[in-house]
Amino acid sequence: MSTPRTAGRARTKSGARTKSRARTRRAAAAAIDARGTDETVWRAARLPERLPRLGLPAGPVVVVAAHPDDEVLGFGGTIAALLATGVEVHTVCLTDGEASHGPASACAQAELAARRRGELAAALGELGPLPDPVYAALPDTSLDAYEDDVAALTREVLDTVGAAVCVAPWEGDLHSDHEAAGRAARRACLRTSVPLWSYPVWMWHWAGPQDPRVPWHRLGVLPLGAAALARKKAALARFASQLEPRGPGIAPVLPPQEIAHHTRAFETVLR
Ligand SMILES: [Zn+2]
Repeated sequence: MSTPRTAGRARTKSGARTKSRARTRRAAAAAIDARGTDETVWRAARLPERLPRLGLPAGPVVVVAAHPDDEVLGFGGTIAALLATGVEVHTVCLTDGEASHGPASACAQAELAARRRGELAAALGELGPLPDPVYAALPDTSLDAYEDDVAALTREVLDTVGAAVCVAPWEGDLHSDHEAAGRAARRACLRTSVPLWSYPVWMWHWAGPQDPRVPWHRLGVLPLGAAALARKKAALARFASQLEPRGPGIAPVLPPQEIAHHTRAFETVLR
């Protein structure tokens, strides 16, 4: 998921465009930093009754994450359900999430990156039998500068495993890494004709049930059985670095109110 305050960094050459992009990113970072929508609001919106219900996708399924935890937050229950039915699932982790605790020395960031890889391996192990993730080790908070690389890597993985579906962060999620990963996955899918499913992560924080920025007509829900939900919860519990305070008086990246959005009895994707 990565820390909200690292959500923005401008990387265009044109001065005006850079300023405008920086403004957009500051607004996005502020939306992510702001107090989020309470899960009780989402519960009252009764999404599973209002949105179309989707069946499990055919495999092999490739799930792309910007940071080590996005794939579990957004799609972990469905990964567990797929594995339980024998569907092949592959994961791609684009960054090691080394910036989740804000500015730090290179040494501290390397330690955090290693810790987060270990947490991801443990979390994926809770979901079921999965091959090791494909690690891209691109820089956390700067994925938009590497979109061509991400598109090429995603395309290569889709081709190698003969993917039937690609699942990636939603390109409207407001977090710059999630958006870059989503845009790159869309490009890879267009080139390979593999259908793309996009999962929101931060949207549950900054949006509300009537938010016009959300293309509601594209959303569908994937109900989770008790076993899949239990596996997802066990997987989420493995991300200790994101669940504990980042320092004295500094809230975790994933406080209980965020985890509440991701421990529902269903998951949601945009098609
Ligand atoms: Zn993320």
